[in-house]
Amino acid sequence: MPGHDRFRGFLAIPYLDHRDQPLALRFRCLAEHDHRAGGHGKYMSETGDTGRMFNVRAVHQAGDVIHVCEGELDAIILAKLGLHAVALPGALAWQPRHRRMLAGFSRVWVWGDPDDAGADFIARIVRAHRAAKGVRLRHGDVTDTYLHGGGNALLALIA
Ligand SMILES: [Zn+2]
Repeated sequence: MPGHDRFRGFLAIPYLDHRDQPLALRFRCLAEHDHRAGGHGKYMSETGDTGRMFNVRAVHQAGDVIHVCEGELDAIILAKLGLHAVALPGALAWQPRHRRMLAGFSRVWVWGDPDDAGADFIARIVRAHRAAKGVRLRHGDVTDTYLHGGGNALLALIA
């Protein structure tokens, strides 16, 4: 599409609203290489696009429980397991308005990556939402855990 030339060849990740209308696209390089040396990030946003919640439809479809993770592909994996999951890409993507979007849930599971940024991601959401609880990932992020132990390895963490 016009304006997307620089994202040619990358995976396009659509951000849809709760009626499946596109709001934005993010892009992911699928090559196993040094992305910086290639002049791009592993993930890329359109200019000026920040702080969006991925898969907001889950907020509308979920009952009392919602899952928040750091990556879009992590959210897709959790959704495949039947969980209602949104992603806030980047540990710094949490914004005050997201608190309102998650108000009313009796449990907010926060799947932060097992690193300092992930701990910060969990801490920010737990401070903002009293029903939020961090999930203790041990074998990498949600995707790594899924590849390592399958869906049961993820479900066991919230059992
Ligand atoms: Zn790359």
